[in-house]
Amino acid sequence: MTFNSLSTRDSERAVHGVDYAFFVAMRCNGVLCLCKVLLTADRPVGIDVGLESFTTLSTSEKTAPPKFYRRNQKKLARAQRKLARTQKGSRNRAKARKRVAKIYQKIKNRRLDWLHKHAVGIVQRFDVVCIEDLNIKGLVKTKLAKSFSDTALGTFVQMLHDKAEWHGRQVVQVDRFYASSKTCHHCQTKTALTLSDRMWTCHICGTAHDRDVNAAINMLHEGLRLLAVGTTESQNAAGDGVNPVKRW
Ligand SMILES: [Zn+2]
Repeated sequence: MTFNSLSTRDSERAVHGVDYAFFVAMRCNGVLCLCKVLLTADRPVGIDVGLESFTTLSTSEKTAPPKFYRRNQKKLARAQRKLARTQKGSRNRAKARKRVAKIYQKIKNRRLDWLHKHAVGIVQRFDVVCIEDLNIKGLVKTKLAKSFSDTALGTFVQMLHDKAEWHGRQVVQVDRFYASSKTCHHCQTKTALTLSDRMWTCHICGTAHDRDVNAAINMLHEGLRLLAVGTTESQNAAGDGVNPVKRW
């Protein structure tokens, strides 16, 4: 990849009005590195991740987990059953084993490709991403974990971090014990919810909530609050007492 080809892509982006980007060339331990920095307006987003809706953004956009995964999982199970029926040391067994490995690799590749595209899409649109600090190990113990993949959420969050760094974005991790689902984002009142309560109404202010969207908005507010706490000193020094929550 040459610097020229990157510059061309940059100008294409500008023409289409998607965003603007520039590249910084740095020499690090003798290796030339190119860092891409996207210039956009200050656009924060909160993300609620789950297994029913893989991601829900504070803009109310939901992305379902891909269906191909389940379809391929069935194929994999069938191939594994075939493998179990073959005789040890036979040519058929070797063939069946190869087929299982191939399907497994295909699932892995498709999953990574899907996660990659989804993470890039978010990072290109938003420059501050507020997301829950996931307890993946705790999550996979629940029966919900089989819906997509034990590792997909963890991989996705890692990809978000990596791509955010590459694009000059910021990821703010919110404490996993922060009650994002049951807190009304409008009046901050907590309501006891069960896992099956997908829609609920705040008994104090009467706001009707979609559980995931409410959680994503809370994630955004809490992430921006954490960000503000981390930069309080510099803001005070500049005499700028901005409340980041009000920006939304
Ligand atoms: Zn309320």
